[in-house]
Amino acid sequence: MALIVQKYGGTSVGDLERIRNVARRALAARKDGNDVVVVVSAMAGETNRLLRLTGQIAKRPSQREQDVVVSTGEQVSVGLLALAIQEMKGKARSFLGHQVRILTDSAFSNARIRSIDGEKLFESLKRKEIAVVAGFQGIDDQGNITTLGRGGSDTTAVALAAALKADACEIFTDVDGVYTTDPNLCAKARKLDRISYEEMLELASLGAKVLQIRSVEFAMKYKVPLWVKSSFTEDPGTLVCEEDKAMEEVVVSGIALTRDESRFVVRNVPDKPGVAAKIFGTLAELGIVVDVIVQTPAHEDGRTDLAFTVGRVDVDRANEQMRKIARQIGAGKVEHEEGIAKVSIVGVGMRNHAGVAAKMFQVLADEGVNIRVISTSEIKVSCLIDEKYAELAVRALHTAFGLDKKEA
Ligand code: ADP
Ligand code: ASP
Ligand code: MG
Repeated sequence: MALIVQKYGGTSVGDLERIRNVARRALAARKDGNDVVVVVSAMAGETNRLLRLTGQIAKRPSQREQDVVVSTGEQVSVGLLALAIQEMKGKARSFLGHQVRILTDSAFSNARIRSIDGEKLFESLKRKEIAVVAGFQGIDDQGNITTLGRGGSDTTAVALAAALKADACEIFTDVDGVYTTDPNLCAKARKLDRISYEEMLELASLGAKVLQIRSVEFAMKYKVPLWVKSSFTEDPGTLVCEEDKAMEEVVVSGIALTRDESRFVVRNVPDKPGVAAKIFGTLAELGIVVDVIVQTPAHEDGRTDLAFTVGRVDVDRANEQMRKIARQIGAGKVEHEEGIAKVSIVGVGMRNHAGVAAKMFQVLADEGVNIRVISTSEIKVSCLIDEKYAELAVRALHTAFGLDKKEA
């Protein structure tokens, strides 16, 4: 008998009929002789609705109270799913994060899981119940409710699979698996049968929201066999697994896109030790996530320009801070510009192929897309471009790197 952790996202539990569909699927896995733990997200749109409420009552809501509010979406889903399973004559019991003891740190709205106590779930499975666990939420060591960041139910599922030593973790969503790029953006996107943990980690961190980054980190660290499948079809989906030789032969496996970046340029920064540490240390303390950073070589007067990007959500806070810091360190103007997108190509095959970045630049040039900033790592190349060219860039790169599906 295998132990399976299944996770169903917001669209998959978007209305009562879909919740019944999930109940049927979980029961089918149980009838096949498996122990089944099901993690669910809030119903589609619910987390956004709750966030709007907190934003309407407070300009800058306390993150602790915000987590109290937004975690309720998942509470509704687990209760409804457990009821749906019971109506189908199955045994089920719902669990909230604190009841399983999903212990996290206290970084409200973006907490990290520290430990999970599997006992309650094992007891439930022993009673032959389907254990239905709320995604996205945990509790800190002071007993406060925490949430794991947007898309965090993926991480709940994989962390549970690791803690319970499950035989597989299946993420059920509204697409058939992991594609070469977002299938809702590019009609020629092709479903992948397999993808390495490392490539998936890059794609997730570069904007492919099909899996939350931390869920892939957990899967990679604890070697959890991770499947991405559709809640609505019987397609076998995509297996996220260890890299092998066949994967290395493919130069580019996927393309990711992040929109909504904002670019800051701090002019005339004194070129001396400690300046970058001061700027980025302060932003980090405030929980502002900084993405691509570029520093120009020092000008003749010994000063440099420093550019970096942050997500749109952090723009106002970053702007306020940067003006303060620039004064403190004696730098010049702080400029800021919105409407930037980051398009990235990812593939483990890049390690042993030359000229991949140059090809990317040429493809963008041929489309008349200007590259603002470039950043690379061993298995990815990212370019910052104007947001209005984002989809064009993705489609052109998808074709140029041979990723288009055959019949399209
Ligand atoms: P869920 O609510 O089930 O967690 P999400 O909306 O978080 O679902 O993630 C699924 C979505 O991820 C898809 O609808 C798709 O638009 C998007 N996506 C982005 N990149 C990819 C990719 N490479 N492969 C598959 N889906 C992707
Ligand atoms: N409900 C949460 C969100 O919308 C968590 C999740 O869906 O994974 O981000
Ligand atoms: Mg998601």
